Amino acid sequence: MESAFKLAYEALEAQEVPVGCIFVHNNEIIASGRNTVNETHNATRHAELNCIDQCICNSRTLHYVCSCFIRLRY
Ligand SMILES: [Zn+2]
Repeated sequence: MESAFKLAYEALEAQEVPVGCIFVHNNEIIASGRNTVNETHNATRHAELNCIDQCICNSRTLHYVCSCFIRLRY
């Protein structure tokens, strides 16, 4: 949870909506992302979608059942 919170803070510092996300499988973080909507001028670049992209790039992780932790910081 703390990692997702740090990513949200990173997003805030980059002048994004402060959302961070991590995917966890067997107590291991397998993907992490933050909101990059302003940076990329792409409204779909939410933290959780950036995490999903990381899983798609690494097909090994596609079959994992993971927990998704999203933190919002204001
Ligand atoms: Zn979202």
